[in-house]
Amino acid sequence: MTQLVHSNAELRLAMTGLASNICLVPTMGALHEGHEALIGAGKEFVGKDGCVVVSDFVNPKQFGQNEDFEKYPRNLELDQKIAHKAGAHILWAPSVEDVYPGQWPMEIENDSRFDILEGKSRPGHFAAVIEVVTRLFNIVQPNVAVFGEKDFQQLVLVSEMAQKRVPPVGILAVPTKRDFDGLALSSRNIYLSSDQRKVAHLIPDALKQGVLVASKGANKLEIKNRVIEVIKQTDLIEIEYIEVLSNDFKELAPGIVGRILIAAKLGNTRLIDNMPILLKEKL
Ligand code: AMP
Repeated sequence: MTQLVHSNAELRLAMTGLASNICLVPTMGALHEGHEALIGAGKEFVGKDGCVVVSDFVNPKQFGQNEDFEKYPRNLELDQKIAHKAGAHILWAPSVEDVYPGQWPMEIENDSRFDILEGKSRPGHFAAVIEVVTRLFNIVQPNVAVFGEKDFQQLVLVSEMAQKRVPPVGILAVPTKRDFDGLALSSRNIYLSSDQRKVAHLIPDALKQGVLVASKGANKLEIKNRVIEVIKQTDLIEIEYIEVLSNDFKELAPGIVGRILIAAKLGNTRLIDNMPILLKEKL
């Protein structure tokens, strides 16, 4: 069975003599098949002598005041079963004090990309994400860590931080796992009412339509309009943003793979998704 540990001391003990090749899969728990895919990728990467540590920590710092920190789903027992099924060696569920010991403050240098897309409606979110991932890296000292493309902006920003570290941490990126109707799996999907859940597939449907019209020569405005048109089949989804950008969040030139990214609200539930997109070159 995957070993469940809490304190940093317990974690260190569990890791002693286990392996030199260590993979960290940071999560906020409420594990689902998306997380399983991350664990699977990590396991494959480190091989049979490696060790996969899954962190299970709902980081209070990365939630805004009116966000869902209090009601974020927590079920450690179920997480342990899922982590075990996926092949993780250790499930580490630290306390806030383990991750943020009082004597150890940390300043995260600001970056203009912290304030765009997700950062626009979630001020402070990415500085908090970079801080917590740095802290998790400092404690676990992994060789490699796994992140999902589902949170694309997080993946890009964390990858840069991980590369700059001494020694660097390798980042494995795993494609988004989707439900039967295309909705990206998310721990927050359980907040959806049955009516909201029935129409939520319009989010990935709309992104696919955006990708399709782009391949036929649509410009960015036309792509966004097509996305809006698909979503507007229901009035249960409110779009927060749709952006077509390069993979480093700049203007996307034709002929280079970039991303189409969306955030939308169904009632109080905020969902995000993204897909690769290619603008057709004008011949
Ligand atoms: P979370 O627990 O939601 O903070 O996510 C932990 C990690 O799992 C992050 O790297 C996410 O990008 C990744 N993740 C979440 N949902 C999915 C999904 N549907 N497919 C792939 N990765 C995911």
